[in-house]
Amino acid sequence: MNNTNNINRRNFLKLIGYCTCGLAIPSCSTVPITERRQLSLLPESYINRHAFRLYENVKKKTKLSEDKITLDEIKEVGRRIEESVSAYFESTNQKDPTYNFQWEYILIDNDKIKNAWCLPGGKIAVYTGILEITDNIHGLAAVMGHEIAHAVAKHSIERASRSLVLNIGTTAADIASGGAISRTSRATGVDVAGMLRTFGIDNPFGRKQESEADYLGLIFSSLAGYDIRESVKVWQRMQKSFKGQEIPEWMSTHPSSAKRITSLSNWIPEIIVQYPPIRKIM
Ligand SMILES: [Zn+2]
Repeated sequence: MNNTNNINRRNFLKLIGYCTCGLAIPSCSTVPITERRQLSLLPESYINRHAFRLYENVKKKTKLSEDKITLDEIKEVGRRIEESVSAYFESTNQKDPTYNFQWEYILIDNDKIKNAWCLPGGKIAVYTGILEITDNIHGLAAVMGHEIAHAVAKHSIERASRSLVLNIGTTAADIASGGAISRTSRATGVDVAGMLRTFGIDNPFGRKQESEADYLGLIFSSLAGYDIRESVKVWQRMQKSFKGQEIPEWMSTHPSSAKRITSLSNWIPEIIVQYPPIRKIM
């Protein structure tokens, strides 16, 4: 890591704040590139197994789009980001955080939902509703880069680990009640919406994780050869599309779109210089 990189990373950490989980705790891990320390109590294999099962359920229970051209476009953007992420970590002699990913892409036919997500282990979904916001492949790369960054930075593990800590009270109550709470949730069957929430899909991740995904997303899209300046336009289009309407919860919370646009604009010039396309794209 050269000096400029270091300064950039330090600025990033200063902006989002340092991890509060202290030093030398074995249940902590470190986010690649930003080097933010995060709580990590659950094994990745466990989280991924659940995510893969959930993804299969989503594929069964939602209407998938028949627009093959757009799906191919999504897969192509994804493939370039996948390869660039792996090539980047290889070139810097770091362990590739995606070595155990099983990348997969679906396009969900729902024009009302302006969203996309990436489950742990690289299971990605784009809703047709966000296509008017992404507008072009660079915009699509901005959104997908952000979602992939959540998975690369293992934000779901961090989130699940935190809720595990917070849910110790519930678990204790469950034991006291003879398992009635878990019996009830078992009886309700597979609740796709609820499970998506657990992975932080329907709900925004915390402020730090969102900023981190914005930052890493720009890096990954830039490495993959996309024009990352489009990310600002994506957020402007997003703001415009919700003008006068209620902003959905997943995007209304911290950081605000305006703040997000400011951060992105600040990072873009540095990232273009420090993380140029890692291989020639087409
Ligand atoms: Zn996000």
